[in-house]
Amino acid sequence: MLKSFRRTAALLLGTLLLLSGCTVSDVLQSYQIAPPPAQVQQTSSATVHYINVGQGDATLIQTAGKNILIDSGTRASSSTLVNYLKAQGVTELELCVATHPHEDHIGGMPDVMNEFTVKELYMPTKTTTTKIFQSMVETAQQRGVSVTPAKVGDTFTIGDANLQILFPDREYKSLNNNSVTIQLSLGGKTFLFTGDNEKESEAIILSNFGNALKSDVFQAGHHGSNTSNTAEFLQAVSPSIIVISCGQNNSYGHPHEEVLQRFDQLGAAIYRTDLDGNIVIAIDNGTLSVQKGA
Ligand SMILES: [Zn+2]
Repeated sequence: MLKSFRRTAALLLGTLLLLSGCTVSDVLQSYQIAPPPAQVQQTSSATVHYINVGQGDATLIQTAGKNILIDSGTRASSSTLVNYLKAQGVTELELCVATHPHEDHIGGMPDVMNEFTVKELYMPTKTTTTKIFQSMVETAQQRGVSVTPAKVGDTFTIGDANLQILFPDREYKSLNNNSVTIQLSLGGKTFLFTGDNEKESEAIILSNFGNALKSDVFQAGHHGSNTSNTAEFLQAVSPSIIVISCGQNNSYGHPHEEVLQRFDQLGAAIYRTDLDGNIVIAIDNGTLSVQKGA
């Protein structure tokens, strides 16, 4: 009886899938991370710059003459960021990601859009009423920057980089827990960015992607806070390099001691913008090299 029910159910599912034009594996893979596109050059030289913007995040990705910025630090550090980008020869940014609308992530965005040609601003649908958020949205309008709402499953191919968007899957109440989460594949290596997502979001991302979260480099969640970086999540990511972006003697006590201990247990090499300054990771011939104080 059960067996025949199962067979009927399987036949029914098969018929539905045929009618809808997709296969079982399409459905099963809808939440899995696609492999990077075939044209990714294993030998290409590319760099990921974790820029020292004090207590905030700002990361520049350079690949095949194209530039991507994930977050833009605080308002106070915006001239530091703009000068850093100029020193790297940036005139145009294919994509700027505002992981979530807190000032330590979007503070530099208006200046970046005014100083450089930004083709696309990508951010969660969750909004806020702060002056800096309004300024970012108004500057995007004034400068003709197209604004795209973030959602899980989006992908971008820019230069040799492939970006897979893993989160958010819907809108959440806290701004932190709407952080755009990106797995970057570049030159055969993977980098994970979770913004300020906290443990609730980490659990959702983990349940959706599991071991596909495995990445060579992890930017510590929420500046190394104990609201984030759970042991289970870190186990799945299992990075060989961890970068913590935080300010010297910041008032939050980031990174938290218990999180540093978890990182140590992973055996990962740890770099910190508060101690090391700018941290630049180069990918050459499929190997990573780290330059600190760059
Ligand atoms: Zn933050």
